[in-house]
Amino acid sequence: MSKSQSTLTELTEHCEGCGSRTPHEVSIELKTESKKRTNREFSREPYRVTQCRVCGDKRSQRMNDA
Ligand SMILES: [Zn+2]
Repeated sequence: MSKSQSTLTELTEHCEGCGSRTPHEVSIELKTESKKRTNREFSREPYRVTQCRVCGDKRSQRMNDA
């Protein structure tokens, strides 16, 4: 299994599942979006993925929210 390893960072953030601040693993993933057919190029949007180490709750959040 040689998946491209993304940089993992550990941060303490608020987890809604736990209702408190817990350690999270934070990584950046590039997801290809192809919503617009007029766009010939694949738009790769960076997502910030955080996973709670306590309850395992995983959520991704788009970094470009402009
Ligand atoms: Zn949690």
